[in-house]
Amino acid sequence: MVNEMKSIAVVGGGAGGLIFANTMAKEMSDDIRSGRLKIRIFDGSVHHEFQPGYLSVAFKGKNPATMRKYLSELVLPDVELIPENCSRVDIDNKYVVTEKTGKKFGFDEVIIATGSRPDYSQIPGLSQANHDFHTSASASAELFKRLEKIRWGRIVTGIAGLPYKCPPSPNESAFLLEEYFVRKKLRKDVKITFITPFLRSYSNETVNSVIEPMLKERNIEIITGFNLESVDPEKELLTSMEGESVPYDTLLLVPPHSGAPIFKGVEYADEDGWIKTDKYDLHVADYENAFAIGDATDLPISKAGVEAHLEAVVVAKNMISQMQGTGERYEFTGRLQCSMETGYHQATFVIGTYDRPIERIQPSLYNYFQKKLMERIYWASLKGGYEWLFKWHFGEDYYRKSGKEKPPMQTPKVQNV
Ligand SMILES: Cc1cc2nc3c(=O)[nH]c(=O)nc-3n(C[C@H](O)[C@H](O)[C@H](O)COP(=O)(O)OP(=O)(O)OC[C@H]3O[C@@H](n4cnc5c(N)ncnc54)[C@H](O)[C@@H]3O)c2cc1C
Repeated sequence: MVNEMKSIAVVGGGAGGLIFANTMAKEMSDDIRSGRLKIRIFDGSVHHEFQPGYLSVAFKGKNPATMRKYLSELVLPDVELIPENCSRVDIDNKYVVTEKTGKKFGFDEVIIATGSRPDYSQIPGLSQANHDFHTSASASAELFKRLEKIRWGRIVTGIAGLPYKCPPSPNESAFLLEEYFVRKKLRKDVKITFITPFLRSYSNETVNSVIEPMLKERNIEIITGFNLESVDPEKELLTSMEGESVPYDTLLLVPPHSGAPIFKGVEYADEDGWIKTDKYDLHVADYENAFAIGDATDLPISKAGVEAHLEAVVVAKNMISQMQGTGERYEFTGRLQCSMETGYHQATFVIGTYDRPIERIQPSLYNYFQKKLMERIYWASLKGGYEWLFKWHFGEDYYRKSGKEKPPMQTPKVQNV
């Protein structure tokens, strides 16, 4: 039971923010209903979208409407949704300010869960030339319409810049394009090129050893070490920082991402706006009452929904145990899990933790079904549903009990994607 009135502000109602807020609401409903605890979630989006589904919309023509739900439908009744973005998060003085109405809301604890977004401003010409499967379900539907008109030519897909969310998604696009044009019986007339700034097709060597031979077998051209500098939409030409040029007829690159612009220049974020976050208990910089989860953090792991989910659980569990006075503390294990569809109803996963290197996993139909299962249970999981299944699936990686002492602040060192 909460002794003093407490107020929690959750900035961002995406995967991480919703799972955190709804988990708290489920566990602490008595305190909320008796007015001892208030949970507010701030987000100006009308809808929340299932972002992994963008690939099915872009490359398989799935209806984009099936990938979105009203945000208000995903927030449990005990959580108050403030349908506005925040323009400021002042942790020292414990308040947030909303963007449109300029209202000020105080908090005792704040969770920053503002995600990441494509940032086209970093590469001249990219926004005019690109067809995008990373921004929205409707942009992905436009891309599918474009694919349907293609009869020949060169399609260039891959990575326009770092970082970006869901590290396997550019490789997936190459696999799904190949499958699409084989099924359309146009494959011999359509050249597919995959560009990447890394020195192999996938940044991690183990994953690369599984997928690079498959890309080659399917006659997908791979250009590594290509750091895109600019795009000339008129000449339909990519130029790299190394001075290499690649022509295209259709371009569908994953743009570099950035954090929410409101964090540029704040002292608890790095120069790109990523929140300085403890890799274990997820507190922000040296604040005890601020936490960051999901893509918004500067953690040395991939930006993906699974991480946002498990981080939300850790922060919620620590807050609940603090409020209930149990003294238990929990840590995030760094578990990452990104699925990679490799076409023809096969998929592999990129799985690892802070302590375990990424595993070698052969593509299989079973993995593909696991990915499809996630699509089925996603909406319920945002409300805290199926947590027993996630706990079972992730096992000892779900969270780690860290005893009763607060772990020391850790500085991220390696990027494990
Ligand atoms: C094509 C694609 C495929 C993917 N595939 C996978 C996959 O297979 N597996 C996987 O685990 N992940 C996958 N992901 C990544 C996954 O969707 C994201 O990593 C996940 O949604 C991150 O959760 P989040 O809560 O950090 O951010 P989000 O879910 O993006 O939510 C952020 C929220 O913050 C809000 N916000 C932003 N600024 C403000 C502000 N100033 N004030 C208030 N609110 C704000 C936004 O409106 C948004 O609702 C994929 C993503 C894409 C694009």
